[in-house]
Amino acid sequence: MSNPPKDLSPSRYDPDRGELDDLIAKVGQSMGISVPAYRIDQLWQGLYRDLLSPEDITTLPKNLRVPLAEHLPAALTEDTRSVGDGGGTVKWLWRLTDDALIETVLMHYNKRSTVCVSSQAGCAMACGFCATGQMGFERHLSTGEIVEQVIRAQLEAGDRRVSNVVFMGMGEPLANYDRTWDAVERLHGDLGLSARHLTISTVGLVPGIRRLATERLPVNLAVSLHAADDALRDELVPINRRYPLAELADACQEHIAKTGRRLSFEWALIHDVNDRPEDARRLASYARPLGAHVNLIPLNPTPGWPTRGSSPARVRQFADEVSFHGGNATIRQTRGTEINAACGQLRADRNNATNPVAVSAPEVRHVSR
Ligand code: SAH
Repeated sequence: MSNPPKDLSPSRYDPDRGELDDLIAKVGQSMGISVPAYRIDQLWQGLYRDLLSPEDITTLPKNLRVPLAEHLPAALTEDTRSVGDGGGTVKWLWRLTDDALIETVLMHYNKRSTVCVSSQAGCAMACGFCATGQMGFERHLSTGEIVEQVIRAQLEAGDRRVSNVVFMGMGEPLANYDRTWDAVERLHGDLGLSARHLTISTVGLVPGIRRLATERLPVNLAVSLHAADDALRDELVPINRRYPLAELADACQEHIAKTGRRLSFEWALIHDVNDRPEDARRLASYARPLGAHVNLIPLNPTPGWPTRGSSPARVRQFADEVSFHGGNATIRQTRGTEINAACGQLRADRNNATNPVAVSAPEVRHVSR
């Protein structure tokens, strides 16, 4: 995976506070005026508290707003917006400044809203059942391109607070570690989101998980497991050949020990592939020592993967089997399936949104031990 050029900063949410301060001074200089120190606070509040474009930050004088707006563009242009679940789910296809396409999903729940953000355009991890994996890797997103997805979701949500952010959209966040982590710090420090409400999901990049364990902010870790024996996981999640299950468990253990955060595993149930009783038993014995919570997701349909998801009855049996063996599993409510916004269906292609796949949402069940 190549790193993007260092000057990758297409969004007004890329510069940090110091860089914005420098920018204000530079703009002032070019106009031959000295800008008072409090202007940075006004710009900062406009961007991070009021979520405004620089041209609309009326606390700033107009002669500053215009040049600041030129230097601080928006990175995301709405290409397509789709609404599903009776308004409960919104998916965007954004066009970036270099024409790359990414997707973001906003989900409203009773008391909170969650946004699922992309960290890369495409993905290099090549999980065959995932639509993003099927399209291949295009490029990393910048910090600002990640943060701006949250800002746009909050603008859409209006009075409802987007309190949770999950890095479960397109891409592998730990393969774009620095920008992902900068985005986490921005969301926490500047947008005021609690670290406990931020979740990074990974295919299982062991060095990234170990690094995450050393960070100051304890965020939640989700690992896309899908198989608890190496032979099957090598096939479903190819990175397992580099970081097999035993190493992955060690890294997860380290994350739990250092951060105190709960670990969760994602398991997409694929008919007759990983939904057999022995799969449930292996999963339970892998998850139990880590105290991990398992999210079971019936496999969502994608264009490049022929095998279907498990039937609702099979999903329930699997969940029961996991808890029988002492595991802790929940069946995840599928959101946005009819707009291809569900797990693993994000693929930057406009036809997606107009080619609905009708799958009804299974009810959520809590399976206790
Ligand atoms: N690359 C990261 C972030 C993506 S999260 C990761 O893999 O964790 C997206 C989640 O949806 C992952 O758990 C992924 O394995 C899962 N997923 C992918 N394709 C899916 C599908 N077709 N049906 C259900 N879940 C899927």
